[in-house]
Amino acid sequence: MERSTIVRVHEGLHARPATRFVNLAKGFECDVELIKADRSINAKSSVKLMLLGVKENEEVTVRATGADAAEAVEALIGFLENPLSGTSDIKSTGKPSKVAPVATIADKSELRGVAASEGLAMGPAFGFFPPVIDQKNQTITADAIPAELARLEQAFATVQTRMDASLQAVGLAISDRGIIAALKDIASDDDLVDGARKFVEGGMDAVSAVIGATSRIASDFASLDDPYLNARADDMNAVGRQICLALLGQNDVDLDGIPQGSILIADDIGAWDLARAPLKRIAGIVCGRGGATSHVAIIARAHGIPAVLGLGPDVQQLKTINTIAIDGNTGHVFKNPDHEITSSFQSKIAEAAADSQALSAFKDFIPRRADGTIIEIAANIGSLEEIEAAQEAGAMGVGLFRTELLFMRHIHLPSEDFQTETYMALATAFAPYPVIVRTLDIGGDKAISGIEFPDEDNPFLGWRGIRMCLDRPDVFKPQLRALLRASAKGNIKVMLPMVSSVEEVFATRALIDECASELKAEGRDYALFDLGVMIETPAAVLIAPMLAREVAFFSIGTNDLTQYVMAADRLNPTVAKLNDVTHPAVITAIEMTATAGVQAGIMVGMCGEAAGRPDLIPAFIRMGLTELSMSPASIQRAKKCVRDACQ
Ligand code: PEP
Ligand code: MG
Repeated sequence: MERSTIVRVHEGLHARPATRFVNLAKGFECDVELIKADRSINAKSSVKLMLLGVKENEEVTVRATGADAAEAVEALIGFLENPLSGTSDIKSTGKPSKVAPVATIADKSELRGVAASEGLAMGPAFGFFPPVIDQKNQTITADAIPAELARLEQAFATVQTRMDASLQAVGLAISDRGIIAALKDIASDDDLVDGARKFVEGGMDAVSAVIGATSRIASDFASLDDPYLNARADDMNAVGRQICLALLGQNDVDLDGIPQGSILIADDIGAWDLARAPLKRIAGIVCGRGGATSHVAIIARAHGIPAVLGLGPDVQQLKTINTIAIDGNTGHVFKNPDHEITSSFQSKIAEAAADSQALSAFKDFIPRRADGTIIEIAANIGSLEEIEAAQEAGAMGVGLFRTELLFMRHIHLPSEDFQTETYMALATAFAPYPVIVRTLDIGGDKAISGIEFPDEDNPFLGWRGIRMCLDRPDVFKPQLRALLRASAKGNIKVMLPMVSSVEEVFATRALIDECASELKAEGRDYALFDLGVMIETPAAVLIAPMLAREVAFFSIGTNDLTQYVMAADRLNPTVAKLNDVTHPAVITAIEMTATAGVQAGIMVGMCGEAAGRPDLIPAFIRMGLTELSMSPASIQRAKKCVRDACQ
């Protein structure tokens, strides 16, 4: 029994429609094939269906053999011709969506960006647009010099007083206190104060004098051979900026004062600025830059904050808007929403709250495959502060601890002892579940003080991740030593980012052995850990069978894997459409990795953002993945999804 038709599914048979089609097919006992041109696939396999790449307006044939073939063909052809009928299963199988998009009012949205963190939010706009200091060098007359010197002195004093006040603040983290204390030292440094005075005495205005003095000292620091001292250049510039703002009577924008329920508007915001902001008070985020897998998006998702990124220069329009409503499912942004939009948002937000209440029943649920294998639903986190959110969500360990934030937080590279304490605290918090720590993945879109990065035309194809670490044993060895020491707790595993050759694993192992021998000679406690690799480059996929012989596990990093397979920069909104993990090329890469890992008998997990997508989870489980690590906000829904898929 077979019938042909023209596909009327708007997005083609990708993601959600593919899942719905497959679920429909599975409801029948007969064998079902879907045929496009001369290719035929089993219509009960989501992966195969996605790989067939069926698009809207293409002709396909549904062929069924077995008892209920006629009903199957009729139902499936009905779906292909009229996908919107019988959508009652969308809720349980659809793309992750805490709330349905506000489709009917979408045309009222004046702006659209990348839907980077799902959910709806509405609230007062809070602009984070740090002022740009763009002072032209001005000459002052001799009789104006004393007054300008007094202004300069006053500005230095104001900044020092502000820094003192910050140091006294209650609840300041030790690492933040260290940063502020170091900046305060610089702000009272004679070299800086005298340098600026001399410029003013020579007839320069105070702002230009401060810029001149700080940039002179900063470039001295930058030219030194020592990475720790190079980092002082940034500190110098940061202090200079504060003094200039004081002279101009301006304040830097401070996220500490963001009112409860605000929508944060920024052209760009660094991961570190955002991570230490009072996130509980931020209802939504809109940024000119960034994409779905940028670190702002990842932090937003980790905290369940809806976000629309990559708005481009349009974000400037929002500076004068009072109230903003954003739809993180579709990327729509509404300026000063009218009554209709407001009430639609209010009811959808209430619905979302009820949904998440219902999902909380899955917090302690342990999902298993039909054969009894536990599927670990773990958390992606980047700091100890995120442990609580992960535990509250019911995380079964940590599948990705991004160590970059530890490094970004410090003016200097974090010491081995500090790292050891951090990894130990993490291991203790999640024991007996495993904690997978990723070694430093700096480069690409992330830089830190203490490591000088070359100017690269293509930083994402450049000196990042394991490449940088192997070139800098002075950075890598303290981290490996700290991990070996923390591993004495028993539940630490370690994985390497951006691997593209087996030699990188060999070289890392040699360093680990060297560190272990040193620790032994020093009489310190340590234990060897399971070493795994992230599969993020096409090269790693293609040599996955070789890598599988050398490591204890794979963790598929779909964020980078997608950008590298698709040759589409993950931060570039212009090519955001191509950055599609459901593209057949990416799905094939994932399947090849899973097959190599399963055949070698090692654990295959995933820690890219795709791991939390309910429309893809069933396919990942079928491929043999046994660990999925995601933003804490996605954990409960993923547990439910695995349960539904394995029933
Ligand atoms: C990834 O690339 O999928 C990943 C998890 O790493 P990051 O997003 O930190 O690059
Ligand atoms: Mg990555």
